[in-house]
This record gives sequence, C-alpha cells and structure tokens, in this order.
Amino acid sequence: MRQSSLVVVANRLPIDDSVAPDGACEWRRSPGGLVSALHTLLRHTPATWVGWAGGTGTAPALPDVDGVRMHTVPLSAEDLRDHYEGFANATLWPLYHDSVEQPEYHRRWWEAYQRVNQRFAEATADVAEEGAVVWVQDYHLQLVPGLLRALRPDLRIGFFLHVPFPPPELFMQLPRRAELLRGMLGADLVGFQRAQAAHNFAQLVAKVLGVPATDRRIAVDDRVVRIGAFPVSIDTVEMGALATRPDVVDRASRLRRDLGSPDHVVLSVDRMDYTKGIEQRLKAYSELLADGHVKVRDSVLVQVAVPSRERVGQYQILRDRVEREVGRINGEFGRVGEPAIHYLTQPFDRAELAALYRVADVMAVTPLRDGMNLVAKEYVAARVDDSGALLLSEFAGAAAELSEAYLVNPHDLEGLKQGLLAALRASPDDTRTRMRAMRAHLHEHDIRAWARSYLSALDDSGSLLTRLGATG
Ligand code: UDP
Repeated sequence: MRQSSLVVVANRLPIDDSVAPDGACEWRRSPGGLVSALHTLLRHTPATWVGWAGGTGTAPALPDVDGVRMHTVPLSAEDLRDHYEGFANATLWPLYHDSVEQPEYHRRWWEAYQRVNQRFAEATADVAEEGAVVWVQDYHLQLVPGLLRALRPDLRIGFFLHVPFPPPELFMQLPRRAELLRGMLGADLVGFQRAQAAHNFAQLVAKVLGVPATDRRIAVDDRVVRIGAFPVSIDTVEMGALATRPDVVDRASRLRRDLGSPDHVVLSVDRMDYTKGIEQRLKAYSELLADGHVKVRDSVLVQVAVPSRERVGQYQILRDRVEREVGRINGEFGRVGEPAIHYLTQPFDRAELAALYRVADVMAVTPLRDGMNLVAKEYVAARVDDSGALLLSEFAGAAAELSEAYLVNPHDLEGLKQGLLAALRASPDDTRTRMRAMRAHLHEHDIRAWARSYLSALDDSGSLLTRLGATG
C-alpha cells in the first residue's frame, strides 16, 4: 500500500463520473470549493484523498487526479440508505439546521453510521504514513477522528465541520450524543464555520462529557484539543476571471435579453433543500407582486433550484410544494411570454453561473440556516464592477463576514419583503460602497487563505506548510 504524508478524508472523492460521448466512463476533477482549495496545496506533497466514489458495491480502483491519489471506500446499498440518506441526511442534517424539519432517529441508522465511519478510519490508517497529517471533513464522518486515533496514535488529526453546529438545546436530542462528541474530540483541532458553533461545541463537551472546555481549548486525557472558527471561502480570483471572460460577458448580455431586458433581475441559486428558505422567498416575492410593489414587466425572479437527495422523503415533498407555488405565482401574475418567475432545476456549470451572477441586479440568498453559503460569496466575487446588491440571511455563515450585505431574517415575512425592496431600490452609490467592502474582504479571505489558516493551526510546528510549499 502506497502511503502519504497528507491525507484528506471526505464522504465523496473530488471527482464526478461522467459518461463520454463514446459511452466510456471518465473521471475528472469536480468543481467543488474544497477541491480547488486543496488542489494548490496537495500537488506539492504526496497526498491521498479517501472517499466514496458514488455507486454501490465494490469500490473501483481510480487513477490519480492531478497527482493526488484517490483511495475509494465502498458503500453497499444498505450503507447508502442508512448512513448517507439516513443518519447523515435525515438525522444530523435537519438537527444541525435548527430542526427546520423534524430529525428522525433510528437505531439501524446509527449502526450504519458507526460501521461506515469505522471503514473510513481503517482505510485512512492504511494510507497514512508515520506521523502524517490527516484532515477529516464534515458531518458524515464525525466518529472518524476518535476511531482513527485508536488505530494510529502517531497521526496529527484535524476535523472540520462545514455545516452549522447546533446549540445544546437541539443537540441534546441526539440519542448517541456522547459518542458523537467523543468522536470529534479524537482530533487535535476541531474547526467550525462560525465562532458560535465552537462555543456550542465547548458547552456541550462540558455538559455531556463533564470535561472542562473553553471556546479555544479542551483538555482530554493527556491531550489538548483546540477548537476554533475557520470560515470557508471560494476561489475569488478564479470567479472574477470567469466573470470577465468574453464568452461569459456575451452570455450575460444574451441572458438579459432573453429575460425581456427588465429593469431588475433578482436571482437565487440553491440546492433544492428545506434549509434554503425557498418557500419563504417565493411567498415574499408573490406578496410584493400582489401588493404592486414589484411589477412583472419591470422585474423578474430567476430561481435555480437543483434537486438533491431525492430519495429522502422530505426533499420530494419540498420539490412538489415549490413547483406548485411557482406554478401558482406564474399563473396568477405572469403574462404570455412574461413569467413572473423563471424556474430552473438543471444544474449549471461554473461559466453559466458566472453569467447569471453578472445579470443579477439583486442576489437573494435567504436560507433559514446555512453553514456558510458559497453562492453568496461567488456572487460578490463575480461583481467585478462593484455593482449589484446582495440580500443575505442573518442565518447563513456568510453573514458573519459579509456584514455589508442587505441582511434579513427569512422567518420574518415582512422583513424579507422590506429587505428585498430595499435591495431593489438601493442607490448605485449605496450598493457600490457595500459591494466594495465585501469584495475587499473576499480578496483577503479566499479559499487558499482558509486552507492555510486551518492547516497552520493544525500543525503548529509549521513543518507541514513548509513541506507543502504554501507558506507564501
Ligand atoms: N452550484 C453549481 N451549479 C448549480 C448550482 C450550484 O455549480 O447549478 C454550486 C455553487 O456554485 C456553489 C455550490 O454549488 O459553489 C453550492 O454551495 P453552497 O455553499 O451555496 O450550498 P450547499 O449546496 O453546499 O448547501
């Protein structure tokens, strides 16, 4: 078995399987933020990515991707149902997002979660060289740090949670809360998106495990576990470059024409998920149309809602409700050739998204709860001329950093309507001042800065970053 000095462990491998025109299956780097972040760092060192390749049954052997080894972990159909769709996405996901949908608790799901986490820990133990740095990602794998430490005490282990971490009142519902906390404490550094999440974690460790904890350090056995906020970001430069590419600029002009050259284009881009506040946003928009504050000829809403997790019941119900509501609003307020809402469920590639961001005078990002929300940051990065208004939920992780956005509470329908109107009617001077400040922030705090700050905190000797050649 080839071993590496840096191992990234995530539920999914950073690749998409796509079928080539001749029917052959090919593997390529997928455009996720984490992949871009780590790409620059990983290529300087023998690195391995441990993850699931999609599909069930025997794990395929994959070639290296850009010099990074792909180590696949197999999942059976039962693992997929009980670990991924069950415990990860129908227990932890809703619980960690303010229980906006009811989390379900099943013992069989918990058993699958333990089993799959054990498999990931064993696979990681096999590919990590003596003293390697291991970086475990997200809520699917919260037990891995503890399981891995038991197998390989020589490793330096980091854990980062991309989603919110809930307050004790919610987390205490979890039947296996102590085990989950102990799993995370197997890491040397536990990173969160927001300082509030680190605080929630410290409080829970003290309450459930009786271990004294501050928002920065927890002493467990003979070790110190550090905790902190490391807000994830995007490749700001890449998005800016994409948004100024001539074909993207042309595409944006055509899109605006195709939309009927309205005065205002409002855009939302979400995964179809009950955490994203899509229904609340539609209701606000529909009321503004009914009140006459927004007119179909002057304004259009473009709602991209890419279906996800379609085998989980709550997601099917949501999609039906959203589609019924869009149909109702278009039926009531649209005219022939002039729908009130352009509703799209196809996934768009980066260039098409960049063109949409260019067209959007107002970007409405109003999740009920979100770990970060990269779409909000991408929009800001794409507004190279400093124009455009970002309407942003206070409950998105991004709000902690992008405080110059038009901030709203998406649970407050009146507030949401007023926020949307304020963004639509804002003066160019006001939007420019706000956009400039947000762009300056993102310029400094991009995805590389995120990876560097996390990894330098994990490996406080600094030797990892020197080895990675990424200290500059
Ligand atoms: N995205 C995409 N194509 C689409 C819709 C979304 O590539 O049609 C990307 C989007 O650019 C962003 C990511 O998917 O990078 C969504 O991340 P976000 O943090 O906003 O939400 P999540 O889906 O992770 O909850």
